[in-house]
Amino acid sequence: MISALLLFGAQAVGVKVELRNSPVADTYSFLRSAVQQKTTLLPGPLATSAERLEELQRRFPDQIRLRDGTILTTAKEGREQIQNLYWRSLDAYVFGCDSLDDFARIPLRAPETIGGFMRTSEVMAAISALLREAVPSYSREMHAEAAIVRERQAQWDLGLKAKMPALIDRAAKALGLERVPASFEILIVPSLGGREGLTIRSGAGIRLVIGAEKHAGSSFAELVLHESVHVLDSVNPDSGFFFELREAIDEAERPSEDFYQLPHAATYVISSQLIREALNPKHVDIGETDGVYKRGLTKYVEESRQPVIDLLAGKIRPQAAAGAIGKKKA
Ligand SMILES: [Zn+2]
Repeated sequence: MISALLLFGAQAVGVKVELRNSPVADTYSFLRSAVQQKTTLLPGPLATSAERLEELQRRFPDQIRLRDGTILTTAKEGREQIQNLYWRSLDAYVFGCDSLDDFARIPLRAPETIGGFMRTSEVMAAISALLREAVPSYSREMHAEAAIVRERQAQWDLGLKAKMPALIDRAAKALGLERVPASFEILIVPSLGGREGLTIRSGAGIRLVIGAEKHAGSSFAELVLHESVHVLDSVNPDSGFFFELREAIDEAERPSEDFYQLPHAATYVISSQLIREALNPKHVDIGETDGVYKRGLTKYVEESRQPVIDLLAGKIRPQAAAGAIGKKKA
């Protein structure tokens, strides 16, 4: 759960958003994607580091304990599923670090094990050691990736930085989401290997990690806003548009898949609509350009579109919009 310190009403001063990048995060996400996608054509030193990361993955335990005490095993869930759960924790720790020196501090504040069976101090030391070697090679070899990050950072510094707080505030107000984090940070990496952005919560606050490779210009703005709307959703679990939407879906007894897909489709529509309104009237939804809609989201996007447009225009209230979307027959 999020600390009360991070929250205050949407009507106070706007949310403070910082965008940053780091060679450590870039290198880690690069090696992670290489292992995940089994990339083989890497420059020599980076190939060695990717192999070491893969070796680490092979040594992941065959079982993991979830927060509620349930133990999942590779025998039952499959190796990949267990691996993904371990990676999810590791990603959060690594992307929460600002420098390699931070890695040594993680075991001091984190639980002794990750998932009950993997020692936090050992695995963080292993990742830190391989990154210490890989970061200089990455900076030397991967010029195109570094250029993407520099470009997005410039786009942010020169314009988005000033506009994004008002957009997030506009989204929160229109959606009836009263709690808005006082501040959060966005860490850009070139690519997250096909995974969606991730949100990390730590004592220091909220940090979003996004892969910027596929999205430039207004698409990059939509991506940032999309992930920010996910943050707004997660800090308002019991009121506002997303709460009402999940209630409506529940009441309509729609398939459980819809419980996840519809709010996500609505997030796409809300973000792209606000980008058209504030930045670029000709903007095309990123779900359209990167193919996400086509991979099973189109019907949900169609259901969400008009009620969301009416909601953002102030024609209907969040509860009415949520009802119009969620209560439709599947
Ligand atoms: Zn999303």
